[in-house]
Amino acid sequence: MDVTADTLPRSSDPALRPVAIGMGSNLGPRVDRLRGAADRLTDGPLVDARFSRVYETVPACGLDQPLYLNACCTGWTSLDAVDLLATLKDLESKAGRDPSAPRFASRPLDLDILLYGDDVVATPHLTIPHPALPERAFVLVPLAEIAGGWRHPVLGRTIAELAAGVGAAGVEVTNLRLREADES
Ligand code: ADP
Ligand code: MG
Repeated sequence: MDVTADTLPRSSDPALRPVAIGMGSNLGPRVDRLRGAADRLTDGPLVDARFSRVYETVPACGLDQPLYLNACCTGWTSLDAVDLLATLKDLESKAGRDPSAPRFASRPLDLDILLYGDDVVATPHLTIPHPALPERAFVLVPLAEIAGGWRHPVLGRTIAELAAGVGAAGVEVTNLRLREADES
């Protein structure tokens, strides 16, 4: 089954699974944190990584916090979802994120698994698709740029359709890029 429609090429390697990752930062040198994560992902767990533009977004938690920078990436990975989450958490912690900080606290780096092929996972530590994906404009808008045709395996709607449904209030595109090759 081609879960990624026309947005990602099929991999010639059956061991590789398509994945979509959400990236965010609202503490410290935000774009440097995102660029560092983009480099680490490209050097490590992801093959053929593609990155969206960078957006500045109003915190969706309702708390009085600095604005976020958000972006999304897609790629192919040989890691299973549990190992990929561990890798993302390791990158968060190397970027200075305090794992004991309260939920929704400002963070130097947030990396979430949004989609992993058409897998549906529901365990205490890992939920895929990411449970907040259908309602988060700050994720859907950048993800729609690079994976608009990817169909949510539970809702049966594409990312482009979900993005159109939530609109783009509080989500402003910037001129920032995560990799030099993506500079406009
Ligand atoms: P959020 O990213 O939703 O704002 P956090 O980054 O604070 O929230 O994540 C809280 C916990 O959610 C993480 O410690 C992780 O174990 C868990 N989690 C469950 N599913 C996922 C997923 N798909 N991607 C990332 N973290 C997840
Ligand atoms: Mg997270």
